[in-house]
Amino acid sequence: MGAKSGKQFLQRLDSTPREVWYGGQRITGGISSHPAFQGVAKSIAALYDMQLRPELKEVMTYESPTTHEPVGTSFMQPRTMDDLAKRTAMMSAWANYSGGMMGRTADYLNSSMMAMAAAADFFDKDGRDYASNVRNYYEHVRENDLLLTHTLINPQVNRGVGPSKQADPFIAARVVEKTGEGVVIRGARMLATLPIADEIMVFPSTVIRSGQDDMPYSVAFALPVSARGLKFICRESFASESAYDHPLASRFDEQDAVVVFDDVVVPWERVFILEDPEKANRVSEATDAIVFMAHQATVREASKAEFMAGLATLVAETIGADQFPQVQEKVSEILLIAETMKAFIRASEGNASVSRWGLMTPDYVPINSARNLWPKIAPTMASMLKLLGASGLMAIPPEGILESPARPDLDRYYQAKLADGEERVRLFKLAWDAAGSSFGGRQDLYERFFFGDPVRMASAYYGWYNKEPYKERVKELLHRKD
Ligand SMILES: Cc1cc2nc3c(=O)[nH]c(=O)nc-3n(C[C@H](O)[C@H](O)[C@H](O)COP(=O)(O)OP(=O)(O)OC[C@H]3O[C@@H](n4cnc5c(N)ncnc54)[C@H](O)[C@@H]3O)c2cc1C
Repeated sequence: MGAKSGKQFLQRLDSTPREVWYGGQRITGGISSHPAFQGVAKSIAALYDMQLRPELKEVMTYESPTTHEPVGTSFMQPRTMDDLAKRTAMMSAWANYSGGMMGRTADYLNSSMMAMAAAADFFDKDGRDYASNVRNYYEHVRENDLLLTHTLINPQVNRGVGPSKQADPFIAARVVEKTGEGVVIRGARMLATLPIADEIMVFPSTVIRSGQDDMPYSVAFALPVSARGLKFICRESFASESAYDHPLASRFDEQDAVVVFDDVVVPWERVFILEDPEKANRVSEATDAIVFMAHQATVREASKAEFMAGLATLVAETIGADQFPQVQEKVSEILLIAETMKAFIRASEGNASVSRWGLMTPDYVPINSARNLWPKIAPTMASMLKLLGASGLMAIPPEGILESPARPDLDRYYQAKLADGEERVRLFKLAWDAAGSSFGGRQDLYERFFFGDPVRMASAYYGWYNKEPYKERVKELLHRKD
């Protein structure tokens, strides 16, 4: 099949049965036309269509090593600096489409799978050929251009103890039994963004460590979303049918769902790690999956920061506030964030080297630093936009006003230095959707948490970073004789 079109994505989406609950109703029929999903499904379809556009095809696809058909560039296992640059160009093109507002475009988990496949020997254990499972799964996803979601975190019942010490040890998804067919999983995982994916990867967290007690929870596998007993329970949708009122939410609300496993059978060929806390703890770093996922994330984040800088500049200029130094300072803060993220990308790519798995791999020091800094600086962008827009962010009547008797008031009182009333409201609705609406609030939470709890991430970063050379320089100065 190779790189798919938007139409093929939508057809597969609607023809794949899945148990998705929205409030009191299980969604039946074509999920791509459900109000909660129609906008984001259309946006994902547009991303897939980009792969086939003649002027973009060179960047968006490469030749499959097995079928020689074009397949998505994010599946490419980079061997050279040019390969890495091509991956970045592809990821930027997708990120720019949504202003960086879609965190779970397919390239995120494609990057993870392609890295794990290159490092598949990591998975071998106990006579079972998990390495081949990983390689075969990667090829299956690549050749069918599947869209993946993933889930890492156990339900938030009692964070004071691990999953095995909860009052009910079957709350967190775990192995119940092993049969000839596969491994039976019961319990739940806290969140999976994008329940309209084709498949779900169930993996250990990159941040939370498992101990020996966590054996039945220390698993990694992948399943089609149609697997019997697999259930997605959605949050309230932030999507809107009006692109004027909610330019972002109407297009890019990816939706987040709790994932329930009612004795789901994972076929043996889809099992990657089984009851192995040590492997579960190391999988992301040992395979470099974390490096390539964080590389993709940093590219998206840079794109988002550029979009937010453009938005902040337009807001300031539109109301004639751009001349004030404190306004310029606020826009500059966002520009600095954009440049910081781009510098991390350049540094990681500039210092890339061929890993022990044979891939041209971005330097993890800048990319891990980006991963840790972003949750701290990303919220600043929304804060700056709010400070710039001020009450203008509330002078945003619903679209109906445009066709109402009050329209002359909109034309007169909502106009701005550089925009008529309709355009000013359009711009400020976009700013509100990015910074303050339900969609904007979810964006804020996402950027703070999507790679894991930033507090524990910072603690891990402290332990991981080689601080010795810096300490040595201080000690040398302390004891300098002259
Ligand atoms: C919008 C959004 C989308 C997401 N999408 C996905 C997805 O697609 N797939 C996926 O797998 N995950 C997803 N996540 C979940 C994300 O991985 C988690 O939010 C993150 O790992 C933090 O875990 P938690 O939310 O369970 O927070 P918790 O671990 O419950 O933390 C809650 C608070 O308690 C503190 N805390 C808890 N335990 C400890 C401890 N042991 N030591 C110190 N402090 C502690 C934390 O610092 C935090 O302040 C998403 C999250 C969000 C917000």
